[in-house]
Amino acid sequence: MSASPSSIPVPKTPVRVRIAPSPTGDPHVGTAYIALFNLAFARSHGGQFVLRIEDTDQKRSSSESEAAILKSLSWCGLQWDEGPDVGGPYGPYRQSERSDLYIAHCEQLIASARAYRCFCSAERLTEVRAAQRAAGVDWRYDGHCRNHDPAASKARADTGETHVIRLAMPTEGTTAVPDALRGAVIYDNHRVDDQILLKSDGLPTYHLANVVDDHLMEITHVIRAEEWINSTPKHMELYDAFGWEPPVFIHMPLLRNADKSKISKRKNPVSLDYYQRSGILPEAFVNFLSLLGYSMPDEREVFTFAEFVADLDLSRISLGGPVFDRVKLEHINGLYLRAMTPAQLANRAAAWLEEDGRQEAIAELVQERVPTLASWNQQIDMFHRGTVSWGEDARHLLVGCGSRKKKSVRLDAKRSRLMFEDLIAQLEALKPWQRDGIEAALRASVTKAGALIGDGFMAVRVAISGSTASPGLFESIETLGRAVTLVRLRAAVDWLRGKGHLETEIAGLEKRLAALRTSQERLIEAQSAGGRFDPREN
Ligand code: GLU
Repeated sequence: MSASPSSIPVPKTPVRVRIAPSPTGDPHVGTAYIALFNLAFARSHGGQFVLRIEDTDQKRSSSESEAAILKSLSWCGLQWDEGPDVGGPYGPYRQSERSDLYIAHCEQLIASARAYRCFCSAERLTEVRAAQRAAGVDWRYDGHCRNHDPAASKARADTGETHVIRLAMPTEGTTAVPDALRGAVIYDNHRVDDQILLKSDGLPTYHLANVVDDHLMEITHVIRAEEWINSTPKHMELYDAFGWEPPVFIHMPLLRNADKSKISKRKNPVSLDYYQRSGILPEAFVNFLSLLGYSMPDEREVFTFAEFVADLDLSRISLGGPVFDRVKLEHINGLYLRAMTPAQLANRAAAWLEEDGRQEAIAELVQERVPTLASWNQQIDMFHRGTVSWGEDARHLLVGCGSRKKKSVRLDAKRSRLMFEDLIAQLEALKPWQRDGIEAALRASVTKAGALIGDGFMAVRVAISGSTASPGLFESIETLGRAVTLVRLRAAVDWLRGKGHLETEIAGLEKRLAALRTSQERLIEAQSAGGRFDPREN
């Protein structure tokens, strides 16, 4: 290895980096962040950028999620040189298509006694776990099967007995994880688990597949999120067991919410889809991502990807958790928009709507509601923004508010919040994202909350559209898409948790009190006049 101008060691062989997303959900801003630094590093060294799909968790992985990740990264302009869609000399690029390789490598580790077969039942492991918890020690597999005779273990496996394969992690000494930004991070081996490498279904865990693939794909630098650093001692052990040279590790700082906690969908929209739908320019988004934990040598804030690549020096990365600040993102986006000529801006806005690809679906939804073309923009507005504000209509977010069947106003923010939370959980997991499933989820949440269907639907309608009058509820949610719908539902939960709902409840009570006062005054008036009073006239 030789030192690069940026003090990150660079081997003699061409630089090869990768992004390795697991297709288990919406495309995440963190994936784009890591992809950006990988791609820029590859470009700055004339290297290759690989996209590998880590779909070893078959239960949680979906092709829908994989397609969405590819689409969003393309939207960002973070184009890979090799990957499942474009192919390349190191394929296949989807781990589910590489199973045989992992099994063969595991056999190799067993033969050299660096891994072993483990036949422990789930019940036994639960007992061990409980005993370790009672003794106040961290979970670590107790090595029950580690010293079994390998030939006898093989014979048991050959009879079809269920088993996994574990890494025989040294129980003494330390493992140094060399990180290019942190120096060596030292781990006590006795605290590192005998990691399962191959599951009982014959599929690899992340650790085995990741190391085997990084080696076979000749990855020179692993640039990934900080959250993986604690897995790296296991990876170092695997590199050693295979006799391979490990890549250079660069663990990027974790993105944070404004309160400095790890970025999370509860506090920040994290889906790339959301930012595309909210009208953020991809080049402004990528510019904003480049500034997270990083600064240009001259501190300038606005620059192109090519300029970023030209000046890239990964040793300038600061490890103090960068905050994903949406206000700053919009500020940068605004700078890009203002730098355009009016004609460019108009073209860009038109292209954004055109590329959106939902025009026809939206037209079908609002067709009944547009008396003139002039009302078009107003009707489609809810589909082309990130969030909505519900103003006066907020009171409908309280389930039961305004219910016609029961005359009283039922002020029940807690019940409403539980309904929204249940709906969010259901919609997060809903596959496929289609009208029928959305309707079923909605009905179930409203019923579970014990609300009237009409009230519950109205609350959700206001949350997702900002108005009591929107196109068909289920179709609207389907067309809005998962990312934007969930952001709006979470905003409703926040509102119900915060003092906003209290103000609405107080306003409702004040209205009722005023009505009661008027009735009372009229009653007194009527009594003193000796007449009859019917409160229903009120
Ligand atoms: N599959 C892992 C993820 O989802 C990859 C981590 C790594 O880059 O090693 O982020």
